Amino acid sequence: MSISSINPVNGEIIKEYQEDHPETVNQKINQAHEAWQSYRETDFGYRAQFLLKIVDLLNERKNELAKLMSLEMGKPLKAGVAEVVKCASVCEYYAKNGATFLADQKVETDAGKSFISFQPIGVVLAIMPWNFPFWQVFRFLAPAIMAGNVGVLKHASGVMGCALAIEKIVEDAGFHSNVFKTLVSGSKAIAEVIAHPFVKAVTLTGSTEAGKKVAEQAGRLIKKTVLELGGSGPYIILADADLAAAAKTCAEARLINNGQSCIAAKRFIVVKEVEEEFTRYFKAAMAAKKTGNPLDNDTELGPMARVELRDELHEQVLKTIAQGATCILGGKIPAFGGHHAFYQPTILTNVKKGMLAYDEEIFGPVAAVISAKDADDAINIANDTPFGLGAAVFTQDLILAEDIARNKLQAGSCFVNEGVKSDPALPFGGINQSGYGRELGMFGIHEFVNIKTVYIK
Ligand code: NAP
Repeated sequence: MSISSINPVNGEIIKEYQEDHPETVNQKINQAHEAWQSYRETDFGYRAQFLLKIVDLLNERKNELAKLMSLEMGKPLKAGVAEVVKCASVCEYYAKNGATFLADQKVETDAGKSFISFQPIGVVLAIMPWNFPFWQVFRFLAPAIMAGNVGVLKHASGVMGCALAIEKIVEDAGFHSNVFKTLVSGSKAIAEVIAHPFVKAVTLTGSTEAGKKVAEQAGRLIKKTVLELGGSGPYIILADADLAAAAKTCAEARLINNGQSCIAAKRFIVVKEVEEEFTRYFKAAMAAKKTGNPLDNDTELGPMARVELRDELHEQVLKTIAQGATCILGGKIPAFGGHHAFYQPTILTNVKKGMLAYDEEIFGPVAAVISAKDADDAINIANDTPFGLGAAVFTQDLILAEDIARNKLQAGSCFVNEGVKSDPALPFGGINQSGYGRELGMFGIHEFVNIKTVYIK
């Protein structure tokens, strides 16, 4: 069986990769476990120096890596460079802070001495999506290797070139060999990987469906999982918001990564009295984005990652319109010719409960505008979702905004007057159907360690 990377601009096959034989997969896991025997003994200073070499390599290779992303999944070049630089920043963050986060913690008890020690657990399997092919992997990898774990990666099938480029970076940085291995495998081969006795835990970033399947299997084997799943990002726009600024931020937040981000704004919940004015600004901001070949420097919106994903999105748009929504922008597959995966920036208004764009995650450049009577109604609509990843509120009343963000919105991250984004220092993750566990910050590095109690009488 082979795995293909396909250019979403024209449907051409970039490269085909021969899938690893099950024996090769087994061997890679065994090698990673073997590497862990000595790697776990290394100290934080040793691990940090190699993470800092990764920082240098990412910065040196950022243009070629960005090009690879453009070719394999359509990310605009500029955004790809920014993604690689962000990967360097998460490596630097954990190189600098990992030792502090994992230092022993003394606890006063009736013991002569008692403390908490954070011990590595071994091989962690990372199952990752194609949408941020470098960032999703590095936000797992940097804390994992700083904590003394080793990793095997099952990347999304369409970005195997990126997966192998990451393996090469870790190798070139001079880490112990086999500390990080890429499996050239499709998802069907993963049940055996999860079941492998040397695989101690699994982290998955992807759809809620994939999360359920993987967590179910890992759960039966009592293996810990961290799940970073889908989202239906509600953005609330209150009457006193700076509407022009909010609309600009909302358009950015909806169209980031060609509309394919878990934390992208997806539902825009606008109080009735400013709905018309906000929508006018929002439409202008969405329409202004320059669509084009992701390899062109001035392109802001590239194609979606695959033709079938674009086709599914178009079906969702048509269905929501048939359910009563109004399309005020886009809603069409652009006539660029050829086998491309582009979709026009699209706005649906009059979206209501029971319509697809209200109830489900829309993973593409399509915004759903929902009308709310007032702030309380907007909060209820925002929380009326099975997901709970990111949410935002726009208002000039910062006291009200903080209360809404802290106490009212049910999500893993709540932002005020800004689009939801990740930062190496801030924990990232969801609640409900968006998953559980946290990546990044201090909490992220504590997910895959044995939090060991040591008691000395
Ligand atoms: P996906 O289809 O779930 O794929 C994600 C990864 O899981 C891929 O590597 C895929 O492999 C693998 N996979 C799928 N089914 C599997 C199974 N049964 N067993 C083992 N592995 C399996 O998701 P996607 O379409 O790539 O990404 C879009 C989704 O991810 C959206 O819902 C988005 O919101 C979510 N997401 C969440 C976050 C977050 O941080 N919360 C970040 C990014 C994306 P194959 O490619 O080989 O199928």
